[in-house]
Amino acid sequence: MTVMTNQQPAVYFNYVAGEWTESASGEKLESHNPATGELIGYSQKSRVQDIEQSIDSVCDTFRKSDWSCNPKRRYEALLGLAHKMENHIERLARILTMEQGKTMRESRQELAGCIDTLKYFAGAARTVFGRSVQLEPANLGVIVKEPIGIVGIISPWNWPALLMIRELAPALAAGNGVIVKPASLTPAISVEIFKLIDEVPHFPKGIVSIVTGPGKSIGAAMGTSEKIDMISFTGDTSTGKTLMELATSNIKKLALELGGKSPNVLFEDANLDKAIPVIGRSIFISAGQICMAGSRLLVHESIKREVLSRLTRYAENLCVGNGILETTDMGPLVSQNQLDLVEGYCQIGRSEGTIVTGGYRLTGKDYDQGYFFAPTIIDNLTSDCRVVREEIFGPVLAVQTFSDEEEALTLANDTEFGLSAGVWTENLNRAMRLSRGIKAGTVWINTYNKNFPEAEFGGYKQSGLGRTRGVDGLLEYCETKHIHFEV
Ligand code: NAD
Repeated sequence: MTVMTNQQPAVYFNYVAGEWTESASGEKLESHNPATGELIGYSQKSRVQDIEQSIDSVCDTFRKSDWSCNPKRRYEALLGLAHKMENHIERLARILTMEQGKTMRESRQELAGCIDTLKYFAGAARTVFGRSVQLEPANLGVIVKEPIGIVGIISPWNWPALLMIRELAPALAAGNGVIVKPASLTPAISVEIFKLIDEVPHFPKGIVSIVTGPGKSIGAAMGTSEKIDMISFTGDTSTGKTLMELATSNIKKLALELGGKSPNVLFEDANLDKAIPVIGRSIFISAGQICMAGSRLLVHESIKREVLSRLTRYAENLCVGNGILETTDMGPLVSQNQLDLVEGYCQIGRSEGTIVTGGYRLTGKDYDQGYFFAPTIIDNLTSDCRVVREEIFGPVLAVQTFSDEEEALTLANDTEFGLSAGVWTENLNRAMRLSRGIKAGTVWINTYNKNFPEAEFGGYKQSGLGRTRGVDGLLEYCETKHIHFEV
């Protein structure tokens, strides 16, 4: 069923110095629903001048307000935002689904994650403790944690609400001033959350801004700005490398959450009834547009036939369609560009291995106006295949087999990425060995994609730099100062 909303497209403004402002460019970016092609909104196509103004306003408020030294105020502000979001969760979920394409279930889950993250870091704002250390009889060191200063957050389009809040909440909890630049494909949900920030009185006006527009101009300007002390970037590994170069201008601190090509390692003794739906979900959630997607399946050769048959059934039973319908299991890809990329990889996969299911764009009345792709499984691949090595960012699972534990570990680590992994076995000793041997920031045992604000997340190797979430995630946004007393 084709569902059009027939609503007037919304207009989204930048939020700078506590005011809703139009870009100096006078130009707008259009947002389209990736399920229907419908025009749903316009946002500001900002220029470098807009980002510079917003940086100046955040610097000014940071200097003049008590934000950086008032943890209770920060606690109230973040909690206030969490409560506002709770009150608006259904409305926000519809906006997120219409803009990004994910299902309503996924949107609600993403927004619930935002609320939980805000509550966690609201409390954490009151725990930014240092320590004291007696160094010599007349010498006392006091080690204090201070905010870094001005933080630029650059976020991607795939989980636009959570990946913004995941960084915004700890950056603010630590007492920084923040400028956010959301992805050009998903400005609406980010600006909608800023409308709620505007309603929370505990935020000093101007301590946090949002400016929408192209990454290559305004995102890069954040990277080179001498007034920004830290960039927190979530996105593609190649963009992360560009930002590393830009950030040398003033030796900016960088936190990078980058790409992945994560394996699920499935041993012959695993509980398949539990494993199959979780492994299927790990690659088809958000149509595979998720950094920690379980995009490689490493399966013991003795169970491959059964596993492939069960996974194929899982994939073919998924209801692909407009995410706004409650019956939909998998929505569209976010854009024509993403669809072309995924189609291109399936062409490559066809020559490198065997397509077990999917591998094509979905067509027909319900699909033609959007960017729908069939859940896809590719088998008979080797480690040098491009579909095994490169992040596809679509609903495409690459399958390889192994014959023993040593080979499984070698294959799991044979990647430039190191974001996450799943290990499926009933043998606890083996699970322990694998969890320590796999070079990844998160290893799930007999589960996948379980994330909590309390538990650190981030990448080994080219999947990132630094950690988000948890105690380390808060401390990423702090400087450490030693104050020394001699009495
Ligand atoms: P992207 O790198 O294209 O864009 C991310 C952000 O960077 C956007 O806001 C974009 O406008 C901006 N940008 C683009 N060029 C820039 C430049 N030269 N300077 C500064 N900013 C620039 O990534 P994407 O396509 O939006 O997101 C998909 C990627 O993000 C995937 O690789 C995925 O794995 C990764 N990702 C990682 C995590 C994680 O937690 N590790 C989470 C989600 C997504």
